[in-house]
Amino acid sequence: MGWSIKLGRIFGIHIKVHLTFFLILVWGAFSYGGSAGPLYGLIVTLALFTLVLLHELGHSLAAKGYGIPVNDITLLPIGGVARLARMPEKPIQELVVALAGPAVNVILAAIALPLVLGLGVAQGGTLSLRLWPQPGWLGLLTFLLSANLSLAAFNLIPAFPMDGGRVFRALLGLFLDFQRATRIAVTLGRVLAVGLGVFGLLNGQFFMAIIALFIFNASGQEGQAVAARGLLRQVAVGQSWSRNTAALPPYATVGQVASMAMSGYGSDFAVLDPQSRQLLGVVQRADVARALRLGQWQRSMAELMRPVQNVPSVTLHTNLAEVQDKLADASSRIAAVYDGPFFQGLISLEDVQRAFQFLARGGGYTGQRLGWETSG
Ligand SMILES: [Zn+2]
Repeated sequence: MGWSIKLGRIFGIHIKVHLTFFLILVWGAFSYGGSAGPLYGLIVTLALFTLVLLHELGHSLAAKGYGIPVNDITLLPIGGVARLARMPEKPIQELVVALAGPAVNVILAAIALPLVLGLGVAQGGTLSLRLWPQPGWLGLLTFLLSANLSLAAFNLIPAFPMDGGRVFRALLGLFLDFQRATRIAVTLGRVLAVGLGVFGLLNGQFFMAIIALFIFNASGQEGQAVAARGLLRQVAVGQSWSRNTAALPPYATVGQVASMAMSGYGSDFAVLDPQSRQLLGVVQRADVARALRLGQWQRSMAELMRPVQNVPSVTLHTNLAEVQDKLADASSRIAAVYDGPFFQGLISLEDVQRAFQFLARGGGYTGQRLGWETSG
């Protein structure tokens, strides 16, 4: 995501903030500060974003538990986004991943509640769940309690891209096939968005109307992305892919393959054992280009290659949606195609995209979404 800077890593996941986030901190410092001043406002705003981060970590750790890599978490002024390498499509997995975010907020609220009650009784004050906090520990804890409850409730609205949309689809998916479950969930999301939009316009809540428009669009995109996956699932590697992979011996040098790489013959190279014809590793055209720029003409393919154990393998019968998932899981652009024990060639993410574009031509679908974003 452009315009973001890295804050650090938690559980191996890169945490980033969008640059506009700093404007929100300034805005929050003054609007949440109240009588206590901007420093208190800043603390409250940072606390709110910490809750959002913990929410996204909930999704991320659940996804990682299913072996789905998490690219990064970005904090935006409107909330957070955890980018998963792929969608969990088993309903039970999607259910757990989608619920894990709001569950974090519910647990935090459950921790805050007794503290708020205890402090409130000790201070003899009247309790109210107002979002604008009174300065002090009680005010901050009350704010955390209400913010956690609001985050959980808002995210459980059953419309994409909210978690609730995914929860609803996953529950339907326990009884219906994924495509049908998605169509129903998309329709419900759109109906809710129209309702919210009309309500917002009638009540002069234009911000709400804009959010409704955003939800309406996001629901449609989810429907298209799932329809695209449905197309890819119908096609096997053997039906869609050409076998003209360029094969090289491990001792071939960058200088020797330069003309092949630059003339565009094949996009990637399979490094084969000259005797057994078994795959040893894969060299991407970009790796050759980099070596050429650095003047490393003598480097061998054996040095440049990604070794075979890090290259995902598929068969001629694997469908393209599965290929996409295997590539995402291995953070690889390329998979090796086998027929039984015999290496057949390479298939790349671009091959999958090309097949998809061919299938979808005329279908009105233009974008392609390879990742999965959860917002909230
Ligand atoms: Zn969420």
